[in-house]
Amino acid sequence: MKVRSHKQNKVNIVTLGCSKNTVDSEVLLTQLQGNEIAAEHQGESDDFNVVVVNTCGFIENAKQESIETILHYIDEKESGNIEKLFVTGCLSHRYKDDLQKEMPEVDAFFGTMELPSLLENLGADYKKDLLGERRTTTPFHFAYLKISEGCDRPCSFCAIPLMRGKHRSRSIESLVEEAGKLAAKGVKEIMLIAQDSTYYGLDLYGERKLADLMKAIADVEGIEWVRLHYAFPSGFPMDVIDAISEHPNICNYLDIPLQHASDEVLKVMRRGINEQKSRDLISKIRERSPNIAIRTTMMVGHPGETEEEFQKLCQFVKDMRFERLGVFTYSHEDGTHSYTMADDIPEEVKEERAADLMEIQEQISLETNRERIGSVVQVLFDRIEQDHFVGRTEWDSPEVDNEILVPIDNNYMRIGDFRKVKITDASEFDLFGEICEE
Ligand code: SF4
Repeated sequence: MKVRSHKQNKVNIVTLGCSKNTVDSEVLLTQLQGNEIAAEHQGESDDFNVVVVNTCGFIENAKQESIETILHYIDEKESGNIEKLFVTGCLSHRYKDDLQKEMPEVDAFFGTMELPSLLENLGADYKKDLLGERRTTTPFHFAYLKISEGCDRPCSFCAIPLMRGKHRSRSIESLVEEAGKLAAKGVKEIMLIAQDSTYYGLDLYGERKLADLMKAIADVEGIEWVRLHYAFPSGFPMDVIDAISEHPNICNYLDIPLQHASDEVLKVMRRGINEQKSRDLISKIRERSPNIAIRTTMMVGHPGETEEEFQKLCQFVKDMRFERLGVFTYSHEDGTHSYTMADDIPEEVKEERAADLMEIQEQISLETNRERIGSVVQVLFDRIEQDHFVGRTEWDSPEVDNEILVPIDNNYMRIGDFRKVKITDASEFDLFGEICEE
């Protein structure tokens, strides 16, 4: 067995799961570099001697992926390619005791709120003066900003509160300061993320403060796009829509997971809203902000979901014509309220329902995209792919929404540039265009 010794630790941080986990890994990366410990994120070279896997524990597929990743690095350790393996994040928080028994090769497991002791195990001090500083791992021109941690909602299917705890908002001042530092490093677009962004401020200020926060971030010099994710429908604060309408650099974009549209299913899910209120909310938002793109997420196959209730969801999606939609199949998660019910929808039926719903959305997305042909839009360019520049409009968030492709031809452009583009063609999930001379 080949044993490699390292004078100096070199840490590879491997992130799984959502953008909130990405932010946690960025905070860890910043702390390590602040301690002058060599560290990289998703590093591919083979000169690391320490690996930290930041896991996801949300649903079955994600848990499987996390376990496979840990097993991969256990092999790396056993074959002497790495010396130390640490595991943190949601899966580690949720199943720490079991994982420790099943995977003794792992040097240590940490919960989602144990950064200081993880750092100690990596030979680093937890530097409070680095809070609000963040070395980002996304392309330089956009970044995620986690405005709060945890969630107080009782959604019956969701294990997130078990892994992230109660809702804790960060102060507006600390978030504005962090946004300023990100802008100083070239960030132009900020995605506001949380488990439940609309709850922002209730714990800290005793009132909802999301709209105030969005406006404060929008006023940060250099920030050209502010984008809101993970809004909760029940008790939705409409002043958020006013903030979107009144500030040109707050994107006409709203990510608001609705999960379902049948009254019975929404009740069992403990979502605190019903079909009619959901319809009224979406219509009111569109009325106040006609140019908005609404992204939502639906879940199919929740225990007890009948064919009729699923058809109600399909009709709702046809009627509401969301610009962007994602679908999850229900995952039977221990420790959640839904786990007390029978997981009675067969996997193949869940998959069929998810495919049927996405088929409906594909048609809506194609029609919506076609309506943009001939229009001129502002595009932020993220990368070059083969002979195209690839970017997004204000109606598209990175990694989850549509992209716009512009031929390189004789166009000169840098990644991270905003340019005006005339839409010339459209497909289900992409737009095609040409640069408009400014
Ligand atoms: S609001 Fe989101 S994170 Fe919170 S319990 Fe519901 S689904 Fe889970």
